[in-house]
Amino acid sequence: MHLFGTVRIRHKAAFGRPGSGGGMVERADIAVIGGGMVGLASALALRERGLDVVLCDPGEARARTSYGNAGVVSRGSILPMASPALWGKFPAYLRNADRALRLDYPHLPRILPYLTHFLASARESRWREAAASLLPLTSAAYAAHERLAARAGTTDRLARTGWIKAYRTEEAFAGAALERDILQRHGVAFEILDGDALREREPALVRRYACGMLLTETGSVREPGRLIEACEALFAQSGGRRIRGSVTRLTPGSEGWSVTHDGGTLAAKQVVLAAGAASGTLTRDLGYRFAIAAERGYHRHYALHPDSPPLTCPVLDTGAASIIAPMGPDRVRVLSGVELNARHAKPNHSQIEAASREAAETLRLGGPLDNEFWLGSRPATPDGMPVIGHAPRHTGLIFAFGHGHIGLSTGPITGEIVADLAMGREPAVPIAPFAPQRLLGFPRLL
Ligand SMILES: Cc1cc2nc3c(=O)[nH]c(=O)nc-3n(C[C@H](O)[C@H](O)[C@H](O)COP(=O)(O)OP(=O)(O)OC[C@H]3O[C@@H](n4cnc5c(N)ncnc54)[C@H](O)[C@@H]3O)c2cc1C
Repeated sequence: MHLFGTVRIRHKAAFGRPGSGGGMVERADIAVIGGGMVGLASALALRERGLDVVLCDPGEARARTSYGNAGVVSRGSILPMASPALWGKFPAYLRNADRALRLDYPHLPRILPYLTHFLASARESRWREAAASLLPLTSAAYAAHERLAARAGTTDRLARTGWIKAYRTEEAFAGAALERDILQRHGVAFEILDGDALREREPALVRRYACGMLLTETGSVREPGRLIEACEALFAQSGGRRIRGSVTRLTPGSEGWSVTHDGGTLAAKQVVLAAGAASGTLTRDLGYRFAIAAERGYHRHYALHPDSPPLTCPVLDTGAASIIAPMGPDRVRVLSGVELNARHAKPNHSQIEAASREAAETLRLGGPLDNEFWLGSRPATPDGMPVIGHAPRHTGLIFAFGHGHIGLSTGPITGEIVADLAMGREPAVPIAPFAPQRLLGFPRLL
């Protein structure tokens, strides 16, 4: 359903000025580019503060990464992919022999700045720093989701389910000691369950694991796409306006911004760029070349066997480098690891096919519920921290992208931060570590 198609554009052409296509220029206090979790949460928070907001998005539900993720909302999501453990796995990664990562070699020269930053970040000191910087954001994430769900009428989709990281061997568990140390230091609650206790906690698991870590404070969103739809409806109800199309250019002017899109031009005093993995394309014309990349990921839904108990919480099978997340009492979503490839490159199903095979030995699965695999792009930064803040060289431009693996969970709190920035207020969460400047230019190697 095209929720916004029916919304009357009340302010359209209020100031009547010819647009690029010969039409009239629409005007707004603020334009939000991108209608995923981050953009929608920003648009809603800005409406709540009384601003006249136009949201620009092509409106394809499945094109949003926010549609297809695992739905995990965890205070413990403070450990970026660029970890010191990377070096031990490096030879396997280079050979594409570890399912956690698939490298598309022809694409790599295009993301060299990202790769260089990534490798520079993969040190214990940087990992610890990033965890400390992310903690205030992830700590505020669940409460922000609760507030959003209450407004959007989706509280039944959000629950403190916990989430499990399951280890197939004692060696694999021992290899994650640093992770546990960091979580413990930051007071992130977890329990270690041996194989039997894990089975008791999650009877749907038929695979025999050595042990598991249960992150008890973690919540999850069932069918995140439904939350996104509800946010769209709420935005429309709250008087938000919508342009269904792609933004092609941002042009600064003396009174704000000119936002060129498929259907014409929008004049806005401020702009929020929240276009997920596509954000770098729009910043480039303004002279910002961010060291970011699309970390692609896939999913497919499967029915649970009628005799299987329901899966009660998302499970990361560390041995398969994949997550299985419940999307209802009788169905699960199997999600793959990371593929470094161009956003629009042809899909490569090797990781999700492997993840699906593994999942069939982890749970009692019935048949697949979709004909096709879903593919989305995590908007990834090399240090695992989002880019949130004012553009360094332009006024009235707020960046809110690069949420990587944690954008569904931290999207709502990012929206609140963005609204504070737009209103000239100090955000409740410290954002200095997320400053855009850190990903422009060369990485700090020491
Ligand atoms: C397999 C997988 C599992 C994941 N699991 C989790 C998880 O458990 N928990 C979690 O927190 N995160 C998870 N993530 C990450 C999370 O999904 C992303 O971080 C998040 O969805 C990013 O939200 P976003 O709003 O920035 O981007 P998106 O949801 O991708 O939205 C960006 C929007 O911008 C639009 N757009 C692009 N270009 C333009 C343009 N030029 N003009 C206008 N609009 C434009 C797009 O069409 C899209 O609608 C997972 C991701 C994947 C792939």
